[in-house]
Amino acid sequence: MSRYLIALDQGTTSSRAVVFSEDGKVIASHGEEFPQHYPKPGWVEHNPDDILRSQVSALRETVRISGIDVSEIAAIGITNQRETTLLWDRTTGECVANAIVWQCRRTSHEVDKLIAAGCGDTIREKTGLIPDAYFSGTKLKWLLDRYDLHERAERGELCFGTVDSFLCWHLLEGRPHVTDATNASRTMLFNIHEQKWDADLLRMLDIPEAVLPEVIDSAGPVGILNPSVLGRRIPVTAIAGDQHASLFGQGCVKPGTVKNTYGTGCFMLMNTGSTPVTSKNGLLTTTAWRIGGKPAYALEGSVFMGGATIQWLRDEMKMLDHAAQSEQIAESIKDTGGVYLVPAFTGLGAPWWDQYSRGTIVGMTRGTGRAHIVRAALESIAFQSADLMNAMARDCGEIPLRMQVDGGASANGFLMQFQADILGIPVVRPGVLETTALGAALLAGIGAGIYADTAETTRVWQADLTFSPRMEERAKETALRGWHKAVEKARDWCEH
Ligand code: ADP
Repeated sequence: MSRYLIALDQGTTSSRAVVFSEDGKVIASHGEEFPQHYPKPGWVEHNPDDILRSQVSALRETVRISGIDVSEIAAIGITNQRETTLLWDRTTGECVANAIVWQCRRTSHEVDKLIAAGCGDTIREKTGLIPDAYFSGTKLKWLLDRYDLHERAERGELCFGTVDSFLCWHLLEGRPHVTDATNASRTMLFNIHEQKWDADLLRMLDIPEAVLPEVIDSAGPVGILNPSVLGRRIPVTAIAGDQHASLFGQGCVKPGTVKNTYGTGCFMLMNTGSTPVTSKNGLLTTTAWRIGGKPAYALEGSVFMGGATIQWLRDEMKMLDHAAQSEQIAESIKDTGGVYLVPAFTGLGAPWWDQYSRGTIVGMTRGTGRAHIVRAALESIAFQSADLMNAMARDCGEIPLRMQVDGGASANGFLMQFQADILGIPVVRPGVLETTALGAALLAGIGAGIYADTAETTRVWQADLTFSPRMEERAKETALRGWHKAVEKARDWCEH
């Protein structure tokens, strides 16, 4: 009998499900979008019922179109948008409020208070994170404060969870209150070295331990899917945050391997093995995954404006009909004629961390036209990614042999070639671009005993295209020098 693995991929704008064969081929996939709520400027929420309903519906539809029999599903893995925070009643399951989404900035002042109180270094050392409203800790504190729930939380009447936890509690038999080590690592409450909730951090944020889920491995028994979902009991054997699953799905299981996802923003993760590397260059340290009780670690950095820069050219500048057109326009000229675009629309992340920089175009002449700007925009995505990669290489003391890529904008051949040129290492695009879902499915395969170990899962990974560097060293250095000069022009622009 065939055995299939299913990934539930609960993302920020849609819930997806993908059926994979054991050898990592996509048999069927289907996603459903759900509404975003912006109750105030800077606030972002999801209705928990929408998350649940869209995920169940995506799963049922994917299984239906795949044509497989439910009895052939060996296991399910869950991957999810990270940091998004939910709080629900342990008896009724009802959430006390909408989910506070990772993008939501409502707790910025809480983070400022923590930093002013001198907690920054402790948070950094214990969690590997830079204190920020992005992570779940202050979001949970906000919910407990706002709805006066500290005593109920203390009595164990409430459950906190990220989306993985929430899905497990609602969809699995016996309502397990669990999360995995990758999701826990993004809460700002979890000690990544000791791999447990940290009493000091809980005290700092005034969070009772009784509200927290049990932290389990990323691969291994999680629970059994309720038969009400697909008409049969199916083991759930993996949980991992989306970027962690994508690193795994890219086969980056050895120290020094790295992947970059080119979506709205770019997310780069480098596997650092059993050692959590502390960055001196503004990167985050995180649990890559935990299997058999053993954590693997990663360095993580992100670019705020990746594919979104191309969206901006399309929607605001009206320079493109569609994102893919940028490739042909960029290739219609031989270079940008010295033009650089720094898309610091919302500031610059690692390694600059300058929230006061703003979008800048420099080097324009009378001859500058649309093609130069489009090409400079694509190049900016590669330059920003190169800055991240170089920061990682400095932290680890070695340059990776290659970089694996995925995400919407990795379809752009010009961008991928330029990326290889500017990094000086090959850029490799896999056959299966659904690497997040693939990672969750492969982890589920390990959890279900289908694959003996991580090494065995890497056999399903297949390169589709390799972009080899072909730019001369001097040209590369000149380009990077120009980019860094442009970044300086963009920095510290806003009054503050
Ligand atoms: P997300 O998961 O963040 O929504 P996706 O992985 O779906 O993002 O990628 C979408 C992003 O990639 C958009 O910002 C879009 O502008 C960009 N994009 C998609 N196709 C291309 C392309 N061929 N060239 C450049 N950018 C692209």
